[in-house]
Amino acid sequence: MCSIIGYFGKENAAPIIVKGLKRMEYRGYDSVGVATESDHQIKLRKGIGKVNEVNSKIQLDILPGKVGIGHTRWATHGKVTDVNAHPHSSNSGRIAIVHNGIIENFEELKKQLKNEGYDFKSDTDSEIIANLIQKYYEKTQDIKETILKTVAKIKGHYAFVAMFENGQLAAARFHEPLIIGVGQNEFFLSSDVLGFIEYTDNVIYMENGNFVILDRDKFQIMGFDGKQAKYEIVKVSKEFCDAYKGDYAHFTLKEIYEQHETVLKAGERTLEAIEKTVQCIKQAKNIYITGSGTSYNAVLVAKQMLSRYTRIKAEPIIASEIQFIPHSIEENSIMIAISQSGESADVLEVVKIAKLAKCKTIAIVNLLTSSLARESDIVIGMNCGPEIGVAATKSFTTQLVIIYKIIQKLSDNIVDIDFAKISKLISEILKNPTKIQRIANEIKDISDIYILGRGMHYPIAIEAALKLKELTYIHAEGIPGGELKHGPLALMDSNVFVIIINPNDSTYSDMLTSAREIKVRGAKIIGISDIESDIYDFWVELPKSDEIAYPISEIIPIQLLAYYAALAKNTDPDYPRNLAKSVTVK
Ligand code: GLU
Repeated sequence: MCSIIGYFGKENAAPIIVKGLKRMEYRGYDSVGVATESDHQIKLRKGIGKVNEVNSKIQLDILPGKVGIGHTRWATHGKVTDVNAHPHSSNSGRIAIVHNGIIENFEELKKQLKNEGYDFKSDTDSEIIANLIQKYYEKTQDIKETILKTVAKIKGHYAFVAMFENGQLAAARFHEPLIIGVGQNEFFLSSDVLGFIEYTDNVIYMENGNFVILDRDKFQIMGFDGKQAKYEIVKVSKEFCDAYKGDYAHFTLKEIYEQHETVLKAGERTLEAIEKTVQCIKQAKNIYITGSGTSYNAVLVAKQMLSRYTRIKAEPIIASEIQFIPHSIEENSIMIAISQSGESADVLEVVKIAKLAKCKTIAIVNLLTSSLARESDIVIGMNCGPEIGVAATKSFTTQLVIIYKIIQKLSDNIVDIDFAKISKLISEILKNPTKIQRIANEIKDISDIYILGRGMHYPIAIEAALKLKELTYIHAEGIPGGELKHGPLALMDSNVFVIIINPNDSTYSDMLTSAREIKVRGAKIIGISDIESDIYDFWVELPKSDEIAYPISEIIPIQLLAYYAALAKNTDPDYPRNLAKSVTVK
């Protein structure tokens, strides 16, 4: 989801802000803007498009001043237009704000402010923050009082930074990320450390319900009750700075190709947490597992694997659905929450509900400094390095490996998993992408593609469909093979492509039968299998492997197919339209 950023210091703010926004592009956005203060005047530029495009059109980075704020917007309220882009200034032009999140009661507040004579230029919920701040600041002439009154009025999830004409900055956080970077005579505010990591690695992760006021060489952090808040300055790992594409054309491709290494590193730095998780699983009344998007697909694999290899029953929960079944969570149970970013609002909500129900919470998360990591009792670090491509690739296979490690320990190593062999399999699949590039060209103009799998390959079919949707915008659907006759067969004709996930295991012959039924209806078949068959119009060969390794080896060629089909269709594989990397709003 969008990024906000603020700078207060000794350098020109605008170039630092533009660079920071560029680094956080992976979070997803549709428009960009910057405002700076110089000589007690606020200057503001914004527009729709990518950071570089907008910057070359309207030179965001030449705005003058040593104080500034910036934003990349992922529209929730109001269309993607220049006017709706952030920053928004208040009616007087003396205050500008950037906001991440949603103000739920904005309509009511907008009405009140309109009655008091305020005008609104945009259709966003965010603009009310600028005018509320103006209203309270004009009354109190005190920034602390102003922010306290503002946060008492607004409802929703937000992080915002407000810049005042006198060059002061104030920022508040409520269920959206906000981090302070503490440099030498300079401060940064940002949604992600990537926004400022090249300047300082001293950071304060602001607590929920806190706000900060930055002034010359000092800062003050307070709670929404007005009292001084406790905080800690911590050092962040520079590893997360390492977000460069290297020789790869896109982050997504780089991340697909990193998987032979990431499967070896998965969970390595938090082995003790894996051990503790195993103990918790053994004692728990119920095991709930939750996630969103790709992480939810990893949850589905986990459910199948736990049942198949350890006879343990786990209940998968789509994170965004929990609000409709909160009472189904029983105490003395555990909630395993899977999230790459650890900032997914839906997943955080599940953890909150699980805690209220007195469950132990376990996070499987890539960012150890994330909200999810901080809110959970046990934290397993995915350890796969930064994932910038919006479509999850290496984080998915890392999540699977962590699940495998848990299963291995639960079975007292009876389930034997050779991770080095899995790593080799991945390298082998990625060695020669020519065939997959050819298939990508074949599918680029179709409108529908179906992916069939049975048993533990069904969640992979769903994940495959998600990758194809995200990267190619082709309608894609994962179907359990056995369900074909119960409806989807009606869709099969010569305009359709079907991917059959068909490794040599107990699902093999049933899947081949399904493929035959589809083929006689004219659809084209892409078979992903370690056994060749003349039923397949295109055969993607899987190297021979142990049964447990199939879910990982199957998804790799499909990730690659989605990537090359995106290139063939001329879409941007790293930043798919309308999507954000970490969905911090509900
Ligand atoms: N709700 C605000 C808007 O639509 C902020 C969205 C965001 O987080 O980028 O402008």
